[in-house]
Amino acid sequence: MSYKIPLFDLNFDEKEAQAVAEAIKDNWISTGPRCTAFENRFATMLNVNHAIALANCTVSLHLAFKLIDVKPGDEVICPSLTFAATVNAIRYVDATPVFADVTSYELPVIDPEDIRRKITAKTTAIIVMHYGGFACDMDSIMSIANEFGLKVVEDACHGPLSVYKGQKLGTIGDVGCFSFFSNKNISTGEGGMLVTNNSKFNDRARLLRSHGMTTMSYERSKGHSTTYDVVELGYNYRMDDIHAAIGLVQLDKIEADLEMREEVRKVYIEHLKGIEGIIIPFLNYSEFSSNYIFTVVLKNSDIIKRDEVRNKLAEAGVQTSLHYPGVHNFSFYKDYYVDLPVTDYLVDNLITLPMYSKLTKEQVIYICDMLKASL
Ligand SMILES: *Cc1c(COP(=O)(O)O)cnc(C)c1O
Repeated sequence: MSYKIPLFDLNFDEKEAQAVAEAIKDNWISTGPRCTAFENRFATMLNVNHAIALANCTVSLHLAFKLIDVKPGDEVICPSLTFAATVNAIRYVDATPVFADVTSYELPVIDPEDIRRKITAKTTAIIVMHYGGFACDMDSIMSIANEFGLKVVEDACHGPLSVYKGQKLGTIGDVGCFSFFSNKNISTGEGGMLVTNNSKFNDRARLLRSHGMTTMSYERSKGHSTTYDVVELGYNYRMDDIHAAIGLVQLDKIEADLEMREEVRKVYIEHLKGIEGIIIPFLNYSEFSSNYIFTVVLKNSDIIKRDEVRNKLAEAGVQTSLHYPGVHNFSFYKDYYVDLPVTDYLVDNLITLPMYSKLTKEQVIYICDMLKASL
């Protein structure tokens, strides 16, 4: 079945295809000048010192925990209302995820008070996820981190160019991680970026993304060096120039794309605000957001009612989703299970509605009407 209105649509045209064709014609398709250009433009847009292009965000999260030196047995405080990769990365370095609840139905981002309650002698880091492109309470989180000497990783996959008190998301903690998976604000198919202001982290991330080798093929092809050493256990976590070529075109479009998403959100809010039975998270949010997703929370509801509403929307041709099922509920994480009352309610009563820049006003109004009818 194909939906009348999908959850997401790519902002692609012939320019992405041309950029890929040009990369191929230039005869260099692995990590090279297009990756460097993509990194430089991304760093400039975020006003951050270093951006390192990677194969995806999951490996960026893995490198983040390596860079901040999280060791086996360390505890890392994390949200559960996120994509599994946020938490899987903690397990890649054999550390222990300690789930914290989100603040409220209106603010479904990690709760600084719950972070504070969950700190133990073993805690070494906090990972936050800026849900939907809306910032966590970074002032409180950074001050807790400073108080206890903890490092902070930002999973900023939802928030490219989102702002928190004058700073771009991903540039406030020690390391920020971004995804360019196809359904993200910036799409390259697969792709990711690690950003940091720490030059030592930058140097080490560049080693780790390419087998711990001191030079890369492109440099050798240009005669800048003829040999290399392997100085630590690295990985192949590189982006290639074909993906970077798409990324560069996407960066040309991102600002206009995000402006259109803001308009989409406004139309949603205008048509849903008065409805008794729903909460719109981040309703009074005043800073610039990337609006990665638009979610509503059903009041006085349960999973059966929520799924009925989703089914009715599907019958009306509207695709919906759930961000997210809650990582602490997955069977792989049963040993780390804790009660998270706010997250648990959201997991059962949240609905993600379509959000992308090409959505028309008429389509958004149709979705709102169908949602009202199904409540
Ligand atoms: C998409 C996403 C990831 C994973 O990104 P990949 O590039 O697919 O590895 C991690 N965290 C969050 C919050 C995401 O939305």
